[in-house]
Amino acid sequence: MNQTNPVPEHNPQEVYADKLLGFTIPSRNARGRMVRLDEPLDAILAAHDYPAPIRHLLAEALVLTTLMGGLLKGDGSQVTMQAQTEAGAVNLLVCDYKDGDLRGYVDFDQGKLAELGANPSLFALFGKGYLAITFDVAGKQGRYQGIVPLEGDSLSQACESYFFQSEQVPTLIRCAVRSDGQGCVAAGMLVQHLPDGEEGRERLHTRLDHPEWEHVAIMSGSLRHEELLDPTLSLEAMVWRLFHEESEVRIQPGADISRGCRCTIGHYEQVLARFPEEDRQDMRNSEGLILVDCAFCSKQFAIAA
Ligand SMILES: [Zn+2]
Repeated sequence: MNQTNPVPEHNPQEVYADKLLGFTIPSRNARGRMVRLDEPLDAILAAHDYPAPIRHLLAEALVLTTLMGGLLKGDGSQVTMQAQTEAGAVNLLVCDYKDGDLRGYVDFDQGKLAELGANPSLFALFGKGYLAITFDVAGKQGRYQGIVPLEGDSLSQACESYFFQSEQVPTLIRCAVRSDGQGCVAAGMLVQHLPDGEEGRERLHTRLDHPEWEHVAIMSGSLRHEELLDPTLSLEAMVWRLFHEESEVRIQPGADISRGCRCTIGHYEQVLARFPEEDRQDMRNSEGLILVDCAFCSKQFAIAA
C-alpha cells in the first residue's frame, strides 16, 4: 500500500457535482439547496463561443436556476429565469430547469460588450434591466411569476430580492464561478427561512431580524467561494461545516443535473402544427422545408412540416 501520497477522502455516497442537494434545519425553520455544476455547464457553454464576462454571467444564472429548480416539488414542474434589458450589452438571458434538465443562453451585443472591459458591472451588462422568474408547478399550484429590477452587484442578489419582494421569504444566496482553460465550474447555495413550514401561509410581514434566521444567515454567509469550487469537498461536507452546531440537519439528495433541451424534430413538428397552413407556407424555403433555430443549442433544424 502506498501511504506517501494521501488524497482527501472521497466518499462515493456523497455529492460532489452535477446533482442537487437539499437540507433542512428543523430547529431554525430553514431549508437550503446546494449544487456544483461541472459537465452540464461545459456542455451548455460549448454550444456557443461566449466571451469571458458572458460565460461567467450565464454560469451564475445556470446555478441560480438549478437552485430554484431544486425548490420545485413533483415531476414536470419548471422554473424559468429571464433577464430583459434596455440599452445594456446583454439583450436577453434565458435559463430554465425541468426535472434535472438545464439549459440557457445569452443574446448580447458584441460591440457594446467590448467597450465594457474585462469586469463589467451588472448595470453595465444589463442597463435598466428586469429579472422575471416563473414557476410552472405541476398540479394545483399552477404558474406564478415575479419580476424584480436587476439591481445590486450580481444576479444572485437580484434573486434574493425576488424571494424577498415576491414571496416574502428571507433568502440568502452564495454563488461562485471559475472559468479557465480547463473549463468552467460554478456552484451555489440557497438558504431560506420558512417559519410557517414548507407549505407556508400568506405572510403579511417579512422579518429579516428573526433571531433564528439571523443565526442561519450568519452561518451561511461564512461559506467561501473556494469551498464552493473545491472539487474534493462534497456538498454534504460543506453543509456540516456550516451547521455542525445545530441539533439536527436533514440532508436529502436531489435530482441529477444534465444539459437538456427540448429541440427535437418531433417537438418542432408539434409547435408548427399549431400554426395555420397559410403561415407554414410562408415559412417554407425553396425546398419545402421550414428552418428552425434553437437558440439554446445554436443548432438549426430543417422540418418537413
Ligand atoms: Zn436546443
